[in-house]
Amino acid sequence: MSSASLVPTRTVATHCPYCALQCGMTLTAGVGTTTVGARDFPTNRGGLCQKGWTSAELLDSPHRLTVPLMRAHRGLPLEPTTWDAALGRVAASIRALQARHGNDSVAVFGGGGLTNEKAYLLGKFARVALRTANIDYNGRFCMSSAAAAGIRAFGLDRGLPFPMSDIAEADVVLLVGSNAAETMPPFTRWLTDQRDNGGSSIVVDPRRTPTARQATLHLQVTPGTDLALANGLLHLAIADGLVDADYVRARTSGFDDVRRTVAGYWPERVERITGVTVADQRAAVRLLAGAGRAMVLSARGAEQQSKGVDTVTALINLALALGLPGRPGSGYGCLTGQGNGQGGREHGQKADQLPGYRRIDDPAARAHVAGVWGVHPDTIPGPGRSAYELLDALGTADGPKGLLVMGSNVAVSVPDADRIAARLADLELLVVSDLVRSETAEFADVVLPVTQWAEEGGTMTNLEGRVLLRTPAQQPPPGVRSDLEVIGALARRLDAPGAWPTEPAEVFAELRRASAGGPADYAGISYERIEAEDGVFWPCRDDAHPGTPRLFRDRFATPDGRARFVAVEHRPVAEEPDADYPVYLTTGRLLQHYQSGAQTRRIRPLADAQPEPMIEMHPALADAHGFDEGEHVRVVSRRGTALGRVRITDSIRMDTVFMPFHWGGAGAVNKVTNPALDPVSRMPEFKVCAVRLEPAS
Ligand code: SF4
Repeated sequence: MSSASLVPTRTVATHCPYCALQCGMTLTAGVGTTTVGARDFPTNRGGLCQKGWTSAELLDSPHRLTVPLMRAHRGLPLEPTTWDAALGRVAASIRALQARHGNDSVAVFGGGGLTNEKAYLLGKFARVALRTANIDYNGRFCMSSAAAAGIRAFGLDRGLPFPMSDIAEADVVLLVGSNAAETMPPFTRWLTDQRDNGGSSIVVDPRRTPTARQATLHLQVTPGTDLALANGLLHLAIADGLVDADYVRARTSGFDDVRRTVAGYWPERVERITGVTVADQRAAVRLLAGAGRAMVLSARGAEQQSKGVDTVTALINLALALGLPGRPGSGYGCLTGQGNGQGGREHGQKADQLPGYRRIDDPAARAHVAGVWGVHPDTIPGPGRSAYELLDALGTADGPKGLLVMGSNVAVSVPDADRIAARLADLELLVVSDLVRSETAEFADVVLPVTQWAEEGGTMTNLEGRVLLRTPAQQPPPGVRSDLEVIGALARRLDAPGAWPTEPAEVFAELRRASAGGPADYAGISYERIEAEDGVFWPCRDDAHPGTPRLFRDRFATPDGRARFVAVEHRPVAEEPDADYPVYLTTGRLLQHYQSGAQTRRIRPLADAQPEPMIEMHPALADAHGFDEGEHVRVVSRRGTALGRVRITDSIRMDTVFMPFHWGGAGAVNKVTNPALDPVSRMPEFKVCAVRLEPAS
């Protein structure tokens, strides 16, 4: 509940500001308070998690930024200033840097929580106003491996190619690397329905999480070995004659290569690699292949690996061999994490991408988008650096010297965070747009205070590819501007060509034209339709198109319409435990916090429930180190150290510790994590590295 600046009481239907479930909720802004209410939306059916119920508390938080901040030069403190002075400083610094070092010397970093309108306009700003190739976003750290694997296999990436309600109809669900019971609790009601319908579930996770505890079968893998497990399950399915040969023949290509590859993944070898017993492997295959309808769902546990694309590919191979994708109540899907992780990867804030999920190196795509933007196609830069590579190049001889950050707290969310903090400190210009003074804002030369979800309109695209409408419930505090206004004001100060609308509806109208004909086609989606239809699924090619809740029913989005098997081999994680660093570290989220915690750490009930990071470890590991419950301990890797309190539990493997990544400062686990990148998606290996444990003293 928060005090509101809107005087008349009114209730609007909107969505939660946090994760990709984008739960429907109501907001009632009245005299003195803004209240979150339940809303019977098709995905969450009235359910919200603790984060959603408390989300209004940040609207008038004392932590809220309401005036631009600027420092005269590095070493001096951030001081309040005017918008005119702040924007003038930013524009002048950009001009000076680009005159000295070229267009690519200024970079842009966006976020998977930005609305589609913001993501679109930010991408356009980078290409048209700055003419820099260097733009990427934190979604690269979220589901880029699943996206790349989906495009490789199906020719298209949409998190779930079916509505969430289909999950309740599956006989078996295989969940790999997802702790949905904590990260998106209302989602698990679909799993409950599935179980009530007589279904079973299999969870693959190094931890016996609340999600794993509810499963029929928990496969407690060694971190980083999901690929070998998937190949092993396919090996058994082939050996037992459980492959859907008709489906494979009619709807896929490349199976023979995969069959030859997985021949090397016999059950005893897979048990040695993964720690999953032969009996459990056989039980999993029996469940999956015995189901009339089955689903394979992956999340960050499988994806945030230096072989994340191949790991997801192995899971897709398994799904294809069992004949699942494109069938009712069946298929493969990715449980996207960030609020607009789906839409954020469709409209041009990714280094290799133009709006509509078009490729930036495709001449036809460039010509179409240039036509919408009113520029010559040759002026649109080519692909730039991926997120980690961009950040790691900051301030270097041939790297960007200036950076604009919108909707991201990179100082907390990047792997090897101390290294990137040093890069941020080397910049000549760092501009941060944010609601609060985040850890990244502390490095900034200019901080711009912006509106938040309940104060602005726009669209978000949830993990099903359903485009949703965010409705403003109250006025922003005086002194705050929207990200769209910030982008528009800077574009005009930089004399950028073309139109720079700042009203979300106007930006969306342009986005629809820019996406028309692309894979993620929003041309037929309007704010009115979204409201009337409880969201519209893309692709939706014109006003008369019904939208596409289910993809791949008749053909896949490949040139020949067939899904592609791709043979993939297990390989070790980039950093295996050794004598100096003998324990695996894996990272993830808690129920009460969201991503870098910049917002949820400032909400009292959430901060009270989880005030500091913990280090989850098995009693045997705690005993071996002489650690007690609640004791402060250091987790040390080759890159850095993070501090947390010991939480002893037998739900984790003896060789592994778990730490959540929601904190900066001494408790920032990303000081420890490994930036080893997947060769295709450029996803860092957040999920596993080698560490040792030391007493804090
Ligand atoms: Fe729903 Fe996610 Fe918000 Fe929780 S954080 S209420 S699961 S959208």
